[in-house]
Amino acid sequence: MNNSFPYGRQEISAADIEAVTNALRGELITQGPLISRFEDALADHLGARHAVAFSSGTAALHAAAAAAQLEPGDEVLTPALSFAASANCALYVRARPRFVDIDAATWNIDTEAAVRAVTPGTRAVVAVSYSGLPVDLTQLDEIRDRVVVIEDACHALGAVRPRGKVGGRGGADMTAFSFHPVKALTTGEGGMVTTNDDELALRLRRFRMHGFSTDAPGRSSTDGGWWYDMVDLGFNYRITDFQCALGLSQLPRLEGWVERRNAIAARYRELLDDDDRLELPPDAPPGYRHGYHLFVVRVRAGVDARLRVYDALRRRGIGAQVHYIPIYRLAYYRQVLGYRQDECPVTERVYAGILSLPIFPALADRDVDRVVHELRTALE
Ligand SMILES: *Cc1c(COP(=O)(O)O)cnc(C)c1O
Repeated sequence: MNNSFPYGRQEISAADIEAVTNALRGELITQGPLISRFEDALADHLGARHAVAFSSGTAALHAAAAAAQLEPGDEVLTPALSFAASANCALYVRARPRFVDIDAATWNIDTEAAVRAVTPGTRAVVAVSYSGLPVDLTQLDEIRDRVVVIEDACHALGAVRPRGKVGGRGGADMTAFSFHPVKALTTGEGGMVTTNDDELALRLRRFRMHGFSTDAPGRSSTDGGWWYDMVDLGFNYRITDFQCALGLSQLPRLEGWVERRNAIAARYRELLDDDDRLELPPDAPPGYRHGYHLFVVRVRAGVDARLRVYDALRRRGIGAQVHYIPIYRLAYYRQVLGYRQDECPVTERVYAGILSLPIFPALADRDVDRVVHELRTALE
């Protein structure tokens, strides 16, 4: 790497470029065969029964919320320390996000608090595996009969919990991934939902394609091969074949990339472990494998020190970032929807100091050393 780098970036090989080029030479550049090939390959890799590809991770979450058949006014529990789409997916289906605080030990949604927060109006949980650490789903088993569990695993492709791979069997009812370039694997823009439920998979596929069905009842004897019906309100959330060609070409390298991310995280930990000015991010407990989409440190001194460090790193070409401004702090949530800023004290305390340090497979050990050096200097 040169001396300037972002917090995350894609890996594109010559073989990736060739795969995309070949796809572009094909007859169908969208709605062609590479989409189901990519879906099958990912489902296979994760051990999921179904994988349905979308045009983005946000579209994938929207589809999951729709497939959960949420009704206007239904309550959806979610943490605020996430990307806006984790909660927006509830708004898209006119449900109401309710923010549950995070657990100070994992920075993921406090699942005990989530179980306590369930009311008769609660229909779903969007559990985010923040930074790539799989959220512990065991507590949520108590409410699975009443509540659809959607895992926002946009950070956690390649991560593992004791029950198995994130997005595979033994996970949430639906698991959403993103293939944005900063994520573990990229298709440019793109997303996926995995599920083991046939009915959910059917709804997800319909939702991606305007709500169309070709096997709905109502087809008459004069309806030919052109026939379809629209049985739900859906969208055009399709991904293209050339994007899936990129995803297929990348997939065999995923495991190695997640390993490299873990090695980078281990190096950060080793180098920063003795620094009392920082809290290091929650590590993977026994039986877990972290995805390390992000390596997030918390500057204990709080907002002023964090701003100083952020500015200093940026001046040195190091793309530190803050993930995330709590969703309830965003103007639309506060001013239009009336959310308060102070409802989640642990989220607020963590947010006040967090800073994401660069982490991506091509980041070399010496780059990590330089980030640590600059970070320590900036903290002085
Ligand atoms: C990236 C991300 C999304 C949205 O994915 P896009 O592909 O950018 O639409 C949703 N949730 C989380 C937690 C993310 O990090």
